[in-house]
Amino acid sequence: MISARCRVCGKEITIESWSHEYEKLKVADDPAYVCDPCQEKIRVEVQNDQPH
Ligand SMILES: [Zn+2]
Repeated sequence: MISARCRVCGKEITIESWSHEYEKLKVADDPAYVCDPCQEKIRVEVQNDQPH
């Protein structure tokens, strides 16, 4: 189990060792974690930036 801080909202999140996020963060040189709500927010904002 490791803890990561969301780089968007700054919330600290505990990641269980069985999570697929854990494997990603464990091997990352710079574990830039973004929590699920922020990932969704970023995804929506990126879509809104696209010219139609
Ligand atoms: Zn967040």
